[in-house]
Amino acid sequence: MAKYIFVTGGVTSSLGKGIIAASLAKLLQARGLSVTIQKLDPYINVDPGTLNPYEHGECYVTEDGAETDLDLGHYERFLNTFTSQANNVTTGRIYQTVINKERNGDFLGKTVQVVPHITDEIKRRMLLLGKTGEFDIIITEIGGTVGDIESLPFIEAVRQLQWELPEEKVMVIHLTLVPYLKAAKELKTKPTQHSVKMLSETGVHPDVLVCRTEEPLGNDIKRKIALFCNVKQEAVIEAMDAATIYEVPLLMLREKLDIICLKKLKITEYSEPNLDKWKLYLDKLKYPKSKVTIGLIGKYIELQDAYKSILESFIHAGAMNEVKVQVINVHSEFITNDNVSEKLEGLDGLLVAPGFGTRGIDGKIVAVKYARETGLPFFGICLGMQMAVIEFARNVLGLTHAHSTEMDANTSDAVINMMEEQKRIKMMGGTMRLGAYPCQIEENSLAYKIYGKTTISERHRHRYEFNSDYLAQFEANGMRATGVNPDSGLVEIIEIPEHPFFIGVQYHPELKSTVESPAPLFVSFIGAAKEYNERSSSIKAGTLRDALI
Ligand code: GLN
Repeated sequence: MAKYIFVTGGVTSSLGKGIIAASLAKLLQARGLSVTIQKLDPYINVDPGTLNPYEHGECYVTEDGAETDLDLGHYERFLNTFTSQANNVTTGRIYQTVINKERNGDFLGKTVQVVPHITDEIKRRMLLLGKTGEFDIIITEIGGTVGDIESLPFIEAVRQLQWELPEEKVMVIHLTLVPYLKAAKELKTKPTQHSVKMLSETGVHPDVLVCRTEEPLGNDIKRKIALFCNVKQEAVIEAMDAATIYEVPLLMLREKLDIICLKKLKITEYSEPNLDKWKLYLDKLKYPKSKVTIGLIGKYIELQDAYKSILESFIHAGAMNEVKVQVINVHSEFITNDNVSEKLEGLDGLLVAPGFGTRGIDGKIVAVKYARETGLPFFGICLGMQMAVIEFARNVLGLTHAHSTEMDANTSDAVINMMEEQKRIKMMGGTMRLGAYPCQIEENSLAYKIYGKTTISERHRHRYEFNSDYLAQFEANGMRATGVNPDSGLVEIIEIPEHPFFIGVQYHPELKSTVESPAPLFVSFIGAAKEYNERSSSIKAGTLRDALI
């Protein structure tokens, strides 16, 4: 029988509900329980797939091809288990289901209303994963902030479940902010009091308060919050700002967040937390032996969340290589033939990011050319791989007008073309090639060296692909397709064997990188960057020595 923990947020957005939920899940998992996390988002989009990354950051894709909120990425990275479509539900999806039922006549002539029809559908989704029998605990993160108009039906659904289910089956954690006023040198509890009051007015009373703070709360503040918010003092949890999100599970362990939840849910069978692997990873992360600098070439670089999974994959791969990965964001719109060497100076590796549309394309192609010609380690993901193909076609094969039909529908050399099955599709949402597909790797290749096996599975999110009509021409001139989809023959991996490290992949390896199993491509890329860095430092040292002699 699954038990349910709901996580709500108050005072402000961006308090890190996702990280707190993932950290609690990690601790419960480390104690031997089977846990999953789901996110309920109050916006009207059916899923975030149609959202511009500037709106909500990266769109995270699950194995089953769901386009989801980026918090699901955190859940997977922390828990090292897969999530699915069922783990992310939006208001839009809830309404879509209810409206479809109404059109079907399922409500038998009744007036369809927010309460009970929308709230019933929310409750059904809240309980769904618990019904699979796979999990002991389902943690549900409610997006938005308490007090938002959009969140109300979700909070009402939590209220009803708190009332309907036995006390030991459900609990609520409320995340708030305890700001520190520098001028007064004081922590302020009032915003937390107001936030809990607002939550209570909707009929939901939190069992635990997790308080984000820059300064330690101390017993006095904890007691004050407990007294005025009507929770036990031990249920006031201090969540100090951490140097890395990966430290938060250990901070929560110290604050006994897991124990409080186990007590409230009357779970008595659990072990001491086994966090050995996690701690080892954290040690490597905190004490790197050297540093590498990677250029991330993209067009959404003003917003770090747009490349969340890529940045986290660098952190995992850095720890594996015991190096700190410094990521320099380079805006592709401002890279030109004239400034490329200056813009990319000092880098040990270049990653050309995924993306859509024409903006910033030329700069990406110029950057790829620079990496191909100078021997700088290169890694292209999705659009990044497509740009590597276009660059090679133009500058090596001499097809000067080569392009992707995404950017130039009438190009004379469509080396990147829309997939056949995509041509018939007119709707935007959920219609790309999405989710996990197998890929067959050639043995004598860099890809094989990286993965150490011939069959892999990685996640996709794209409409365009390598045009195989050109494959022989590419292979004859030094760019090989070393990974293909075994069923459709679509090219998944390209590489240039003559280059020290030049690889592009049509899929998104960053979506499967977790703390406990970092993505092999990222680990090898950072390894290549480390070698490049060591080589260029010794060349620099040699030149300096020569100059001194
Ligand atoms: N826009 C490209 C396509 O649809 C690449 C997509 C991506 O980088 N995720 O194929």
